[in-house]
Amino acid sequence: MIGLGALALSLVLPSCRPAPAAEAAEAAPSVLDEEMAVLLRWDVGAVVSDSAVALFSLDSCFRSSPLPDAVFARMEGRSYQEGCPVGRDELRYLRMLHRNDSLRPQLGEMVANRIIADELLEAFRTMYEGGYPIHRMVLIDDYGADDGLSMAANNTSCFCYRRAGHQRNLSRHSWGMAVDINPLQNPYITRFGVEPGEGADYAYRRDSLAAVCPQLITTESLPYRMLHDRFGFQWGGRWMHSRDYQHFQK
Ligand SMILES: [Zn+2]
Repeated sequence: MIGLGALALSLVLPSCRPAPAAEAAEAAPSVLDEEMAVLLRWDVGAVVSDSAVALFSLDSCFRSSPLPDAVFARMEGRSYQEGCPVGRDELRYLRMLHRNDSLRPQLGEMVANRIIADELLEAFRTMYEGGYPIHRMVLIDDYGADDGLSMAANNTSCFCYRRAGHQRNLSRHSWGMAVDINPLQNPYITRFGVEPGEGADYAYRRDSLAAVCPQLITTESLPYRMLHDRFGFQWGGRWMHSRDYQHFQK
């Protein structure tokens, strides 16, 4: 692979540099080179620097494609099972960058319906640029397509063929038309309790909480402003008989 980090530095640094600066110039490209390799491979979950993202380009960090075979292999028998109401060709694999809880760029992924793929790319890019933190963004298949486990891990995800919580009908997640964001700070609350249980502290949505918890989804937050206000998703935080603060659907 071409050392893109080294290439960028060589463009910035004069070629005839005095000896003392040479050591620093040698150390920096190797870190950047490694980060560029991480971005090129799109190692989901990896954390990179803002310099690497700038060099790689933000456009390259928000991409949609048909489901690669390797991704579909992870989904089969887990989030994608017989009886699924959407075909593989109706789904898209999104690779998206997010700011993690430390506000560092972290590599994420999502499977969603092709109908909303572009909207999600724009919404999550705006969240990234606006500094809305997202703890983790990997396929629910990494948790055996178990929504409880994915929520407990505070994972942000979209497609999963399953029933709606405590109901018989299929969830909009089954079509890849719903997204759950930061479930820990935005739990699902029904008469059966709070899910995930670890999110109980965030069940009572007092104003003082929003001031200390940037992951909280409120009508002022970037997820709400993008997905609800801009793209017309319904928000579970306004449902009549339950509250699903993490959930947006079409
Ligand atoms: Zn949901």
